[in-house]
Amino acid sequence: MADKYDVIVIGAGPAGYVAAIRCAQLGLKVACVEKWINKNDKPALGGTCLNVGCIPSKALLESSEKFEESCHHMGEHGISVKNVDIDVSTMIARKDKIVSELTGGIEQLFKANGIDWLQGRGRILPEKQVEVTAQDGKAATYAADNIIIATGSVPFDLPATPLHKDIVVDSEGALNWTSVPKRLLVIGAGVIGLELGSVWRRLGAEVIILEAQDTFLSMADQRIAKDAQRQFAAQGLDIRLSARVTSSEIKNGKVVVKYQDKDGDQEETVDRMIVAVGRRAYTENLCSDDVGLGFDERGLVHVNDYCETNVPGIYAVGDVVRGPMLAHKGSEEGVMVAERIAGEHAHLNYDAIPSVIYTIPEIAWVGQTEEQLKSAGVNYNVGSFPFAASGRAKAMGQAAGMVRVLADADTDRVLGVHICGPAASELIGQAVIVMEFEGTSEDIARTVFSHPTLSEAVHEAALSASNRAIHIANRKRN
Ligand code: FAD
Ligand code: AMP
Repeated sequence: MADKYDVIVIGAGPAGYVAAIRCAQLGLKVACVEKWINKNDKPALGGTCLNVGCIPSKALLESSEKFEESCHHMGEHGISVKNVDIDVSTMIARKDKIVSELTGGIEQLFKANGIDWLQGRGRILPEKQVEVTAQDGKAATYAADNIIIATGSVPFDLPATPLHKDIVVDSEGALNWTSVPKRLLVIGAGVIGLELGSVWRRLGAEVIILEAQDTFLSMADQRIAKDAQRQFAAQGLDIRLSARVTSSEIKNGKVVVKYQDKDGDQEETVDRMIVAVGRRAYTENLCSDDVGLGFDERGLVHVNDYCETNVPGIYAVGDVVRGPMLAHKGSEEGVMVAERIAGEHAHLNYDAIPSVIYTIPEIAWVGQTEEQLKSAGVNYNVGSFPFAASGRAKAMGQAAGMVRVLADADTDRVLGVHICGPAASELIGQAVIVMEFEGTSEDIARTVFSHPTLSEAVHEAALSASNRAIHIANRKRN
């Protein structure tokens, strides 16, 4: 009979590896199945996030930001920097080193926690058995009391714009270019399109981003989205809305892209293209039909609020289930499921999951947007504070953008916080804590923040929700 585990996790991305570690901490016997083969042909843990997602994209954003700063923003400090150049291969090698250190770190954590890494592709069979097929085709079957599906997501392809060598690529390909394209077209002005478009623009590419929707960042608070859109345009990112790409073809080594906008059929010829039109749940060959696992209409594994599937003892977490496709959301679902398997009463507050776009300006939010509150008929107060009035932001030379705090007009409970500007990714953590504790704008207003810090902008925005910000003129309300 096969080895028997308390829990088998399928997938070692941030949802799966965190679930496995938490299970092990709780004394459960755990195995994690992972099939990832990295660009050096080596098996690797960490999933999309560590190998080709969150971490490598942030490494390139950091390098490209330093390059742009050296080229354009040192003079105002009186620092002259001459002959600035970038060796893109070195930048990519630095990124690869960070990735391999972090994925190796997960391997160490598995060892330290006594988690068995079953290398290969997992497939769920009836009676909670998992067949694991290694790269060499050899298969072994294992049994478990519980299975956690954490198989993540893969990029959507657009059949009309097929990937082609390193000329038309998805997000993974765009993390590995070793030269800067002269003209680059990105399909999709979502989080990934904006981040990768920013990297290559900063390094010198002329970047066009085509977005089918007529609203920029429709999921974000629209005051924040408009402010960010203006800042991107000023940087030279050419973002065209209502522009639906219909086809592309390679001609003489260039990409000819056809799209439709309000004025009809359009065409662009570019050197390279990134297809960044979103991601879909990855469930290929995940289980035999007789397991009876339920899927929703979008191909996601169907789960309830506790990530339980319709099959008792089988759970699913991360990008493969409903909710935002974010690493931290998957990790917290992994923790919740591990604790519930161990008999604890964990739950996850889906109303307080932050979202971040790591461009300049950084854009970050948690909770509801003003548009959502309006359409739900909620009576709310808005407080806002521009970074232009923050001493610290000015000293940093990053005084564009703002913080917005939305609070219930009757109870003052914070319903949403939206930030566009420096360190928004870090500042939003303060808002998440307030919302997790069901705090009010008054709670933030009564808290003492260090001076001078960017956090003071959050404080002032909360004060402004009751018209008592100190460093801006408050609005008169009727
Ligand atoms: P994944 O990370 O996709 O991991 C799933 C794992 O399961 C993979 O390793 C896969 O090989 C394995 N697997 C699948 N099927 C099987 C099988 N049958 N057998 C064995 N193994 C299997 N999110 C953020 O929160 N912040 C960011 O800054 C951010 N930046 C991103 C940038 C880019 C360019 C991309 C592409 C994504 C980014 N994301 C970001 C999204 C983030 O990467 C995902 O939300 C996250 O990785 C999802 O985690 P997961 O564990 O559910 O799935
Ligand atoms: P996200 O899902 O946040 O990664 O964003 C992907 C973006 O790609 C969405 O805003 C989509 O509207 C956009 N998109 C999808 N298909 C097309 C297309 N054919 N042309 C232009 N934009 C597209």
